[in-house]
Amino acid sequence: MSQKRPQGYISPLPVRARISRAQPRGLPLINMSFNEVPFGPSPEVAAAIDDATRKANFYGNPTCQALREEIGARNGLNPETIVCGNGSEELLDVIARNFVRAGDEIVISEFGYIQFAIIANRLDAELTKVPEKDYTTDVDGLLAAIGPKTRLVFLANPNNPTATMLPERELVRLADQMPSDVVLVIDLAYGEFTGFDYCAQIHGLANRFENVIVTRTFSKAYGLAGLRVGWCHAPEWMIPALYAARGMGSVNAVAQAAALASLCEPELVQARIDQILSERGRVAAELTALGVSCLPSQTNFMLITLGDNDPDRAEALVMHLFDDAGIIVNRTREKGLERYVRFSLSLPEHNSLLVQSVERFLNQ
Ligand SMILES: *Cc1c(COP(=O)(O)O)cnc(C)c1O
Repeated sequence: MSQKRPQGYISPLPVRARISRAQPRGLPLINMSFNEVPFGPSPEVAAAIDDATRKANFYGNPTCQALREEIGARNGLNPETIVCGNGSEELLDVIARNFVRAGDEIVISEFGYIQFAIIANRLDAELTKVPEKDYTTDVDGLLAAIGPKTRLVFLANPNNPTATMLPERELVRLADQMPSDVVLVIDLAYGEFTGFDYCAQIHGLANRFENVIVTRTFSKAYGLAGLRVGWCHAPEWMIPALYAARGMGSVNAVAQAAALASLCEPELVQARIDQILSERGRVAAELTALGVSCLPSQTNFMLITLGDNDPDRAEALVMHLFDDAGIIVNRTREKGLERYVRFSLSLPEHNSLLVQSVERFLNQ
C-alpha cells in the first residue's frame, strides 16, 4: 500500500556534471576550478589553528567579538556594523531570508554569481537577470529592471565567473538612484584583488545608505576557503535581524582564530595577492599570444575562450587539460558563456603547465 509522503518545497537546480573518472596517466591533480589561492596557512595562522583546535571543548564566541573588532580596526569600520558568517555564502542567504519571501523578486546581472540563483530557488523567489554589456554589469539595466515586486539586488563586484567589475562611481550611481526600500548587496569576495582603497569606497556606501550591504570573505585572498569565514558590513538597524536569521555558532572557534591571525599579516597577504596579479599578467600575455582570448580580469581567476563559437571545443579543452596535465578547470554553467572556460591562477609552475597544455591542444 502506498503511503503519502511529506511534501518538500526545495528541489536542487540542475548541475553540470563534473569530471568523475581517474586521470588517465595517473598525474597529480591540480584543481584550478574553485578560485582558491594556492597558498596554505602561514606559520602564524597554522599556530592559531592548532591552538584553537586544542581548545575544541569550548564554544567559539557566538558574535565573533575579537574578529569583528580586528576587521573593524583594519578597515576603518564600526565593529557593531559587522556580522560574521559561515562563509559569505551563509550571509548572502541570511540577508535574502530577511528581505525576500516566496514570489518576491530578486534582480541580478545576466552572468551574476551562481549562488544568487541558488538562493532565489531556495526562497521560491522570482529571479530577473539583466543583460550585460561586454560581460559587465549594466547599471541602467539594473535600475530599469527594479519593479514593485523587487526586494533585493545582488551584485558580485568583481563578478564570478566574468572577472569584470564596475568603477566605484557606477556603484554610487546605482545606490543613489535605486529605490531606498530595495536592498542592494554588493558582494566583494574578490575585493582584495582590486585594492584596499576601492574596497574602502564601497564600504562607504553601506555607511551612507540605509539599504546597502557589503559582503566579504576570508576564502579568496586570505586563503581560508576550507574554514568557512565571511563577513558583512550592513547599516546598523539591520544587524539584529541578520543575527536572528543566522545560526548561533555558525562561525566555529578554529575558523575565528585563523581569520583573526590572518588579518594580522597584511604584508604577507598583499605579497601573495601581488604574486597572483603578476602571474595573471604573464598568463594572459602568453595565452593571448597563442590566440586565446581572455576577458580582462580584476580577480585571481580568468575566463578564456578559444574564440570560435563552438561550446564543444571549450568542452574538449577542459577534457584535454585533465587528460594531458591533470589540471581541473571550470566549465561555466551560465547560459551565454558555454564557449568559455574559467580557471584560477595558481603557483607559477602550475600556470605554466596550463599554458603549455593549451598550446598542445591548439597544435593537435
Ligand atoms: C567564492 C565567492 C564567494 C565566497 O564564498 P564563501 O562562502 O565566503 O567561501 C562569494 N561570492 C563570490 C562571487 C564568490 O566567487
